Amino acid sequence: MHEHDAEGLIVAHYGIAVGVRTETGETVKVRVRRRSGHVVGDRVSVRDGDLKRHPRNSELRRLDNRGEIRLVASNLDVLGIVIAPVPLSPETFIDRAIVTARATGMQPFLVLNKADLAGSAELEAELRGRYGDLLTFFLVSAVDSSGMTPLVAFFAEGHRGAFVGTTGVGKSSIMNILCPDIDLAVGEINETTGLGRHTTTVATLHSLPGGGELIDTPGFRDFGLAEIDPAELGAWFPGFEAVVEEGCRFRNCLHRAEPGCALTAAVQSGTIPVSRRESYIRILDELEEHQARLPRRKD
Ligand code: GDP
Ligand code: ZN
Repeated sequence: MHEHDAEGLIVAHYGIAVGVRTETGETVKVRVRRRSGHVVGDRVSVRDGDLKRHPRNSELRRLDNRGEIRLVASNLDVLGIVIAPVPLSPETFIDRAIVTARATGMQPFLVLNKADLAGSAELEAELRGRYGDLLTFFLVSAVDSSGMTPLVAFFAEGHRGAFVGTTGVGKSSIMNILCPDIDLAVGEINETTGLGRHTTTVATLHSLPGGGELIDTPGFRDFGLAEIDPAELGAWFPGFEAVVEEGCRFRNCLHRAEPGCALTAAVQSGTIPVSRRESYIRILDELEEHQARLPRRKD
């Protein structure tokens, strides 16, 4: 047995090497091929300097600065969607994030930041009305740290998560409070990796002082919409649970304008607001557009 043979977790990725935290708590650097496919969050066995990856429970994909969808982290169980009164994220943005999280094995939760700003109470009421009991909800302010205790306690249950949200909603500010040694000021050198934020570091996994883990994905602006079968979108869409449960005339109903559609009936009776259907249709259009661009599968 090699002196570095061990079971471990990838906690950092430097392009040509990864940092593997082993059971003893130390982090060893292991060289990898440039397109090894290993990402932060992967559980691996180290054998003679080679990595063997264990199966993943979930995968986080993000859009990079060139607009390409890339896998950046794995084995997360929660995804925090950060929202603020300014800049205000479109309703569909939030729904896309929820759908993607659910479809790729993560439990989404909402963080309404900038509670100190005017307009946050109205936004809170709107979000609670729309997502109700479907998602765990946190109201925080990263400028005065208010509301952070329940969020810290949530991670302390043992969750591993990441944050997504429009630029400027306060993701970095929240991460800095949850994990002070992350120190997310653009252009600074990360003390644990010794690398600047604009180097090849793709993602880093941090253990939070209060418990739980947070994955930071610098340089990634947005996340990719999961590749979902359009006929399954309704099952992931927040608020359509009862409709999907009830069922439509056609088993593979897309809930556009098909006869006997339970969604149409719910919108007509007022159980589901028109705006919810509009958000759903926008994501459905996006999925179908994406599907049309894929090479046809030969089955
Ligand atoms: P990110 O792009 O999502 O990472 O957002 P940042 O953390 O960089 O924050 C964007 C801007 O919002 C900065 O100017 C922060 O100072 C400000 N900001 C962050 N959190 C709050 C907050 O709770 N309240 C207010 N008023 N401003 C905040
Ligand atoms: Zn239908």
